[in-house]
Amino acid sequence: MIHAKETSNSQGITGDRPDPFIRNDQFNFIKGQTDILVNGKATSSDAEVLSVLRHLSQEKVFDLFPSLSEEQKAVLQPLTAVKEPADAENFLGQLVAYVVPFQNVTDQHLKKLFPKAKKLKGPKLDTFDFRKLSYLGWIESSTLMYLVIERDGRLDGVHGSFNRSAKYGICSICNRHSEVGLFTARTKGSGQDNFIKRGNYICQDSATCNSNIDTLEYLHKFVDLLQ
Ligand SMILES: [Zn+2]
Repeated sequence: MIHAKETSNSQGITGDRPDPFIRNDQFNFIKGQTDILVNGKATSSDAEVLSVLRHLSQEKVFDLFPSLSEEQKAVLQPLTAVKEPADAENFLGQLVAYVVPFQNVTDQHLKKLFPKAKKLKGPKLDTFDFRKLSYLGWIESSTLMYLVIERDGRLDGVHGSFNRSAKYGICSICNRHSEVGLFTARTKGSGQDNFIKRGNYICQDSATCNSNIDTLEYLHKFVDLLQ
């Protein structure tokens, strides 16, 4: 099969590369599928089993996107050829160019998102790789945690206190077993001056958490609980 990109290159046409269309969580999901394929190759020599596995992987990856152009399909298609760890690495290396970075966050945004935090320092924005974020999370004054998420193109923020746990647990944002802490926030109850404390365990390290997230479902539920 000829690749859309190879065809265009051979004709010397450039600029028809699709725009970034893969979110961090989708990239992580695809990465998980390459692991499944590499492990499948390592544990089964049955060609039919492997073929089914590849088709399943492709189907699941295509299903992540509400619609895909032929060019976008061509970007994802090499997944089915992943057999060895090096194949996975090459494929994922190519995909990085198509990852949509997290929305640019400025000090102005932070002031709007957290109007009551007068002494807010904000995160060291230049230390983040925005292509590897589903949310921007940081800790200030050792126990205050801030999270900025992006939903339907808009930024949203939650903050609360954070107490590191000595035990491992399931993170309610990435749904993985990891080093967690209890995040608690005060949210408005039913009455006017009625506040209730709500919280849940989440990863201590937001970079690890972001690299685990392969669906936004839990992140959105977590934020909804606090608002
Ligand atoms: Zn997590």
